Amino acid sequence: MSDTAAFRIQDIKARIRAAEDEAGRAPGSVELVAVSKTFDADAIRPVLQTGQRVFGENRVQEAAGKWPALRQEFAGVELHLIGPLQSNKTAEAVALFDVIETVDREKIAREIAKESARQGRTPRLYVQVDIGEEEQKAGVAPREAVDFVRRCREEFGLAIEGLMCIPPVDEHPGPYFALLQKLAGEAGVEKLSMGMSGDFERAIPFGATSVRVGSAIFGTRG
Ligand SMILES: *Cc1c(COP(=O)(O)O)cnc(C)c1O
Repeated sequence: MSDTAAFRIQDIKARIRAAEDEAGRAPGSVELVAVSKTFDADAIRPVLQTGQRVFGENRVQEAAGKWPALRQEFAGVELHLIGPLQSNKTAEAVALFDVIETVDREKIAREIAKESARQGRTPRLYVQVDIGEEEQKAGVAPREAVDFVRRCREEFGLAIEGLMCIPPVDEHPGPYFALLQKLAGEAGVEKLSMGMSGDFERAIPFGATSVRVGSAIFGTRG
C-alpha cells in the first residue's frame, strides 16, 4: 500500500500542508500539480481516484494521447503544460491544456494569441524563466523577464498570470526561488510555479503557489 502512487500523493499533500503552516501561509494556498509525464493511463487513474485533478505533462503529443480519454472518465481535470512548446504544436496545446507554464519567447506568445483567438479558448499562461541562466534550459533570462511579461500583455494581449522556473540541479534552490518571487512582484503576476519532488518544501516559504511533483508520487521514470 505504501508503495503506491495513491498512497504517496497523500503523503505529499500532508507535507505541503506542513510546509504551508511552517511558512505562515494559509492552508490550501499551495496547489499540487501531479506530474504524470511518461506514465500511462493505468498508472494515473488511481491518483485521479484519490480526487487529485491537477496534472502536469511536458509533451503535447504524449498528453494528447492519454488525457482526452481520462477526461471522459473523470470530470474537472486541469492540465498544465510544463515542457517546452514548439510553435507547430501551439494549436494542439491551446486546445488541450488549461495552463501553459512555458511561454518563453515572442514567437510562441504570438502563436498562442493567434490560436486563442481562432479557437475562442485561452489557456492561463505563465512565463518560464531560466532562473539559473543555464544554456541548456528553456526560459527567458531573469533580466528580461519583466519586460517580456509586459510585451506579452501589450503586444499580444496575453494575460500572463505567473512565472515558472526550474533551478539548477545540485545547488541550493533558495536563492533562485527568492529571485523568481522578486521578479513576479516586479512583473505584477500572482502565480509562482516552483518546487519539484526534491525541493518543493523549500519553495513554499518563497511564495510558491503551485509545486510540480512527479517522481515522489509516481515513482522513478523509466
Ligand atoms: C518532470 C518535471 C517535474 C517533476 O519532476 P520530479 O523531480 O519528478 O518531481 C517538474 N517540473 C518540470 C518542468 C518537469 O519537467
